[in-house]
Amino acid sequence: MSRFAVGIDLGGTKVEACLVDETRQVLARKRRPSEPGLGREKVVENILALVGETAGGSPFEAAGMGTPGTYSVADDIMYGAPHTPLYERPGLVSLLRSQLAVPLVVENDANCLALAEFFAQCHGRFSTVMAVILGTGMGSGLILENRLHRGPNGNAGEIGHTSIAIDGRLCECGRRGCGEAYLSGPSLGRRYAELAGEALPPDRIFERYASGDPRARRVFDESVRIMGELFANCVNALDLQAIVLGGGVSNIPLWYERVPPVMTKALFGVPGRTIPILKAVLGDSAGVLGAAYLALREMRLMEF
Ligand SMILES: [Zn+2]
Repeated sequence: MSRFAVGIDLGGTKVEACLVDETRQVLARKRRPSEPGLGREKVVENILALVGETAGGSPFEAAGMGTPGTYSVADDIMYGAPHTPLYERPGLVSLLRSQLAVPLVVENDANCLALAEFFAQCHGRFSTVMAVILGTGMGSGLILENRLHRGPNGNAGEIGHTSIAIDGRLCECGRRGCGEAYLSGPSLGRRYAELAGEALPPDRIFERYASGDPRARRVFDESVRIMGELFANCVNALDLQAIVLGGGVSNIPLWYERVPPVMTKALFGVPGRTIPILKAVLGDSAGVLGAAYLALREMRLMEF
């Protein structure tokens, strides 16, 4: 007899759900708008309707949910979700919990992505990895010795807001020199605009780089160094064996060849190590899949 679990990926504008069985097979996957502008009750109603539709009558035993920001159980708030003010007010998760008939595990969406990518391409090969989502922001999740490391506040792995230049560029978080202020999609666009007077998305800057534009070359030469130094800091701190890169900016192919040699030069300790940067393989299904794994763990069908 099969056992079932549900994964939920709550975003600012949409919510996605999947139904998995005990073998981690995805049996159904659906999405709908989350409508946070219409209030907390409406968001919960949308999530419950979507879960019902996705489960289609299968008796699921637990649910996992990935959220923007970091969910604090004590305050019942998702901290660090400034683009969706409703999520930074208390009550949404507890309301959902009270209306869902099964246990609900809540985790930051970057941690969900890290879990899904870890099991997709690292498990059995590397035990200690960091998964970085580089898009409009920069988030990450950590798997240390085969365990999801969330920290006592669920706040571990915020490498996007570690500084590589204390008097450097101002970040949206208020601090200077954060990795996000140099490497996010908008940050790459702003740097290109400084040099060329025209803001472009990263893939367009890369096209120009490929066709020999010296300003695009400069943007990527700088960014490769910054990413290499930032990732090397993480390896030096955590003894990482690999880094998984996901999100829109991960589609630029040069990171995978050019960043590891920069890291190698900056690593401390055991000499000559090359830490691979692996491209995320699950695309936009990673978040909802990782959320389902949280539920499978709750059912004691997975360990991490
Ligand atoms: Zn910052």
